[in-house]
Amino acid sequence: MELCVLGEYLIDFTPSGKNPDGMPLYAQNPGGAPVNVACACAKLDVPAGVITRISKDPFGEFLYGYLGSLGSVDMRGVARGEEPTGLAFVTLDASGDRDFVFFREGCADSMLRREDVDLSLLEECSVFHFSSVSLVSPVSREATLFAAAKARELGKTVSFDINYRPFLWKTEEDAVREVAAAIGYADIVKASEEEAAVFGGLIRGCGAAIVLTTFGADGSAFETAAERGRVPSFPVNAVDTTGAGDCFMGAFLSRFIRGGKKAGEMEGRELTSMLEYANAAGALCATGYGAIAPQPYPEDVERLLESR
Ligand code: ADP
Repeated sequence: MELCVLGEYLIDFTPSGKNPDGMPLYAQNPGGAPVNVACACAKLDVPAGVITRISKDPFGEFLYGYLGSLGSVDMRGVARGEEPTGLAFVTLDASGDRDFVFFREGCADSMLRREDVDLSLLEECSVFHFSSVSLVSPVSREATLFAAAKARELGKTVSFDINYRPFLWKTEEDAVREVAAAIGYADIVKASEEEAAVFGGLIRGCGAAIVLTTFGADGSAFETAAERGRVPSFPVNAVDTTGAGDCFMGAFLSRFIRGGKKAGEMEGRELTSMLEYANAAGALCATGYGAIAPQPYPEDVERLLESR
């Protein structure tokens, strides 16, 4: 197990046409940013495990069964709880860009406790990855910060995706305060263009060795202390960008882990080629519905890279 992620795992109800009466239909897709990242990395042949808390309700049984059916993700760190499953309804505009309506109050993943954190995964991994959604509720926040601090103490590379969902937070100040507490643990920070606009000051000041920014169809960028670069993506027929950023991140971390270097040792040339790989993976993910099912295998990414 090389990548250990911590965080939410829930249901993304994705628009899926209309029934004969004209009523909108939703497909029940498993998702949750950190778990999506682990699945993407594992599908690209780099072993990954998750620390999360899954409900015992029917949706939770579905989530647990789905993760198990992939057969590629280490589930040692999955705790089970009586709380309900978190639900997210995805809304899409004409260009396939997504937004969310969340039902997460008191849900299982937000009740991940410090005692639920499986230390064996943190000890084994080389990279620990998390995002801000598990910082919203005080219970999972404590577990998240405990794990991030532990990973750091164990000398692991820590990766943080800002993954800002404004309506999960009471105020933007709350989000900025909690992100500020977490981002200091990170060696690698990922932000979307919109997140970079809100958290730019924190990102610049946090001391991470690698900062990644994603620009949807326009690709991505990296910044280190010495270098910066912008890498275009690949033209694809995007139908649902849900999880494209997570697939991008899982693919990036898979290359980072394969490279075997520390974040501070990466050169611009290497980061450029890793971002090409990650862009291709993110682009391929956007060509299918849901966050996990359309994630590519290594040969799919290689084919798209060769087409350039
Ligand atoms: P996030 O989910 O973090 O907002 P993005 O939507 O920016 O992430 O997608 C992550 C990466 O996936 C992008 O940097 C890009 O490389 C690739 N990608 C996403 N959407 C498209 C698209 N429509 N066409 C081509 N590449 C895309």
